Amino acid sequence: MNPGDARPARTVGVLGGGQLGRMLALAGYPLGLRCRFLDPAEESPAGQVAECLRAPWADAAGLERFAAGLDVATFEFENVPVAAVRALAERVPVHPRPEALIAKQDRLDEKRFLRGLGVPTAPFAEVSSRAQLDAAVAEIGFPAVLKTRRDGYDGKGQAVLRVPADLDQAWARLGAHPLILEGFIPFERECSLLAVRGHDGAVLCYPLAENVHRGGILHRSLVPMLGAETLTTHAERHARAVLGALDYVGVLAIEFFVHGGRLLANEMAPRVHNSGHWTQDGAITSQFENHLRAICGLPLGATAVRGAAAMINLIGAIPDPAAILAIPGAKLHLYGKTPRPGRKVGHVNVCAEDTPAVLAAMARIEALLARATGVAEG
Ligand code: AMP
Repeated sequence: MNPGDARPARTVGVLGGGQLGRMLALAGYPLGLRCRFLDPAEESPAGQVAECLRAPWADAAGLERFAAGLDVATFEFENVPVAAVRALAERVPVHPRPEALIAKQDRLDEKRFLRGLGVPTAPFAEVSSRAQLDAAVAEIGFPAVLKTRRDGYDGKGQAVLRVPADLDQAWARLGAHPLILEGFIPFERECSLLAVRGHDGAVLCYPLAENVHRGGILHRSLVPMLGAETLTTHAERHARAVLGALDYVGVLAIEFFVHGGRLLANEMAPRVHNSGHWTQDGAITSQFENHLRAICGLPLGATAVRGAAAMINLIGAIPDPAAILAIPGAKLHLYGKTPRPGRKVGHVNVCAEDTPAVLAAMARIEALLARATGVAEG
C-alpha cells in the first residue's frame, strides 16, 4: 500500500529491461506505479531502478513468475517474440495489443499495413531470392536500400545500392535473411510523431519532432519542428489511422521522411521512442508518464511543449557531466550502461523559451560530445 492511500500500488509488467524501461519505471514512481521487468540479459538498465526477472523469452516458468500479481503489462522492446506477449496476454491485460507488434516486426508487413491505411511510404518490394533482387531493383531503380525484414534497428542489417555492382556484395551480406528493397529517399528532413491513445479511444499527439540521424542512429531531435503546420496535420491523421486500426492503447511513434514537402512513413514503433525523450523535460507530460497513464486507464496528460526543446543522444561516450549541467537548460539522463563505440549510453535534453536559445545550447553540447568521442571539432 502507498502510505496514506487505501489503494494498492499498481504493478506494471514490462517486457524488456533497456533504457526505455528504466525511464518508464522512473516515470511510474510519482504516480504510485511499480514496474517489474522481464529480460534475458544479465545486466539491464531497468534492473538498476526496479525489480527485474532474468529469463529467456521462451521460458514458460519464468513468464509465469513474472506475470504473478501484475495488474497490466506492456513492452519496451519491439523484437520480443510475439508468442511471449500472447502467453502473457492470457494472464494479464497487455497494452498495446500483440497485434501492434505483429504489424511492426516485419518491415514488409509494416509497409503493407501502412499503405493499407493510406499512409504513404517509400516504394518497396519483397526480396527473397537473388532473382527477386534483380527484379526489385529493375522496378524501384537506383539508389535503393536493401534491408532485413526482421530484427533490424538503428540502421543495422541494411545496405545502400547505388550501382549494379553493389548487388552481389549486398546479397552476400544479407541474402540469408528475408529482405525488403526500398527506394532510397533523398529526403529534405526527417521527423517523427508521437501519439498516445487511452482506453476510451482519446488520442493526444505531441508536436512533430525534427530528427537528424547519423549512421542510421538517431542523433538529435528538435521541437517544435519549424514550418511544419501542414506536415503536422497529415502526420496526426496518419497516426490516428494506425491507432484506430490497432485499437491501440499507449504511446506510438511514427518516423517520417519529408520528401517534396510530403510525408513518407519510414517505420513505426509500438512503444515509447527515442525521438520522444525530449518530453521528459520539455513537455507538460512525458511520453513515459503518458504511456503508463494510458495502459493503466488513467486520464492522459497534456502533450504541449513548454517553449522549445531538443534531445541529443550520448553514443559511445559520456562527456563530463558537470560541463553538461553548466549549460543553461540542459538535463542529463544516463542509462547506467558502460560506454562502448556505437552504444547509446544516455541523452541530454535542452529546454529554453525559444528555438534559437535551444540551438545555442545544443551547439555547446555537440562540442562537448565531439570532444568526449574523440571526433575532431570544427
Ligand atoms: P531505419 O533502420 O529504417 O529506421 O533507418 C534508419 C535511418 O536510415 C533513417 O532514419 C534514415 O535516415 C535512413 N534511411 C532508412 N531507410 C531509408 C530510405 N529508404 N531512404 C533514405 N534514407 C533511409
